Amino acid sequence: MAAPDSSQDPAIRQAAQLLWKARYVMALTGAGISVESGIPPFRGPGGLWTKYGEPPMNGYQQFLDNPRRAWEERLNPTGPSEILRTTVASANPNPGHHALVAMEERGLLRYLITQNVDNLHRRAGSQNLLEIHGNSTLTRCLQCTSRYALADTPLDVLPPSCPQCHGMLKIDTVAFGEPIPPDVLAQCHQTTERCDCMMVIGTSATVYPAAWFPMQVRDRGGVLIEVNLYESELTPMCTVSLRGKAGDILPLLAQAVADLQSADA
Ligand SMILES: [Zn+2]
Repeated sequence: MAAPDSSQDPAIRQAAQLLWKARYVMALTGAGISVESGIPPFRGPGGLWTKYGEPPMNGYQQFLDNPRRAWEERLNPTGPSEILRTTVASANPNPGHHALVAMEERGLLRYLITQNVDNLHRRAGSQNLLEIHGNSTLTRCLQCTSRYALADTPLDVLPPSCPQCHGMLKIDTVAFGEPIPPDVLAQCHQTTERCDCMMVIGTSATVYPAAWFPMQVRDRGGVLIEVNLYESELTPMCTVSLRGKAGDILPLLAQAVADLQSADA
């Protein structure tokens, strides 16, 4: 099927105008954009937790109680963890990820907040990226928050320790019951305070703290652009809602804004 001409779609044209007029554009992404790369969601139809049951709600406490065992389980995953590990390892960024990189490179997109831990935004090339739930390919020091590639972290002694401060290293992915890493959360707040236009992509943004960011933008008079397959609780607050896959819509949107930029140049 041929891609529709973005200039023919009034909703995309309207969204492009809003992005073009905004002073500080941000995006918030969730599981939907990863699903398009073949990564199963946690909840909902086909969700890993829907199928296998919710993981323990005290994962962080379990880690602190026995970090060695938590690390051993991480390195030898079974059940849903193993499925997730395998699918993430074979997944690739999709056109939605790449369109966000294109918007960043054109100076339009200032910051991207993601709830995803699968590293696909980094692999696509996103630079100003805030991973509020961490990144499953990194380790993080619980003492000084330094991060290291998991692949470069010596694992002969578990739990591994931080080369800089000798604090304990944990997988960067935020566990249940674990606070959002304070450095990331602070940057999310600083950037959201400046944001006057946020694209909310592949997420219903109903889980805090992610839900806080679009609310904050809207409360301060900014506009929200939704890109999602389905209506969500956020839909009534959005100026434009674009229904469909991020991988279909974001390239059209990026092109429509680029057209406005070059028409203005
Ligand atoms: Zn450290």
